[in-house]
Amino acid sequence: MRSQDYDRLYLSPPHLGRHELNYVHKAIEDNWVAPAGPNLAGFEADICQAAGVAHCVALSSGTAAIHLGLLLLGVGPGDEVLCPSFTFVATANPILYCGATPVFVDSEAETWNMCPQRLREALDDRIARGKKPKALLLVHLYGMPARLPEILALAAEYALPVLEDAAEALGSRFDEQPLGSFGTVGVFSFNGNKILTTSGGGALVTNDAALDRQTRFLATQAKDDAPHYQHSEVGYNYRLSNILAGIGRGQMELLDERVKRRREIFGWYRKHLANLPGLTVALAEERPGSRSNRWLTTILLNPDETAVTPEALRRHLETRNIECRPLWKPLHLQPLFEHTPMYGGAVCADLFARGLCLPSGTAMTEADLRRVAEALQEALQEAL
Ligand SMILES: *Cc1c(COP(=O)(O)O)cnc(C)c1O
Repeated sequence: MRSQDYDRLYLSPPHLGRHELNYVHKAIEDNWVAPAGPNLAGFEADICQAAGVAHCVALSSGTAAIHLGLLLLGVGPGDEVLCPSFTFVATANPILYCGATPVFVDSEAETWNMCPQRLREALDDRIARGKKPKALLLVHLYGMPARLPEILALAAEYALPVLEDAAEALGSRFDEQPLGSFGTVGVFSFNGNKILTTSGGGALVTNDAALDRQTRFLATQAKDDAPHYQHSEVGYNYRLSNILAGIGRGQMELLDERVKRRREIFGWYRKHLANLPGLTVALAEERPGSRSNRWLTTILLNPDETAVTPEALRRHLETRNIECRPLWKPLHLQPLFEHTPMYGGAVCADLFARGLCLPSGTAMTEADLRRVAEALQEALQEAL
């Protein structure tokens, strides 16, 4: 590590607690160095409890969980899946793994998540063109709950199964119910930059015992119930290792604490950045019933009030050894999805053009936060 990296402020680095190593140590001591064992069962039980669901399967990544979730909902070659454009590519890549096509839907400005009006427009248009989408992939970006009542009502009206990508929303709630538990299937990620991490990992949750069994089957090479190696279906090798699940068990003990700290960090930025010219802390208000885990604090610049662009701001903070990242680049603007249907697009394109993610790691101190605020102030007041 270069010496200057000691004081680098990262966007959202892993933040370990005290017990991860105990679980890992025990796994090695007991020779549970396999994708099976007590840490896996324990980690899954912890997730069930936190998400308020009956079943959980720990997997090698959130992406793998989305892939299996789509297969469980019957998505196959030639199908269409409704999906927000404003998300990380990991939401939509598994649609392609299934040989299906995403149908992108714009965001609404209040939660940045899928716009219910655009969703209805998309549904009616796809049906009019002769094909009803097979499933709805719903994302809660940056931990902020999507417009669940409207979207679930639409899904029910059109008899559309919902796969909830709650990769960024572990610990967020709507009407006291944990996100990830609203769909037929829910997905979490434990990647290195998420609110909790296993270094890499994911989970699929459901209340349906048959879907849980099917997930375990597909995640372990789809081995038929026979002593010899017999297979009638395509399977995958998607289980999480018992070692990494040990890190997960230690992390899950900290969920409430970590959500509390992310929310404090958001509150700190909101208070201390209130008077910077042309800058607003984004997603400031939570809709009634919504409680965000505030995974990342994001800002928006107003070009009518400042000539500073998000990219200039990002580069300035980089000179202060502070890592910021642009918002997710909308998928309908990606070369990969050039020919993919899109309903609307102006809302998420505008957010992308004006937004930036600030360092939001839970280990940040007051002094760290002040460093970010001062760097933002320099950039905006000295107008680069
Ligand atoms: C991180 C993330 C994923 C994928 O999770 P991995 O564990 O990295 O595979 C999926 N969707 C969203 C919105 C994410 O942020």
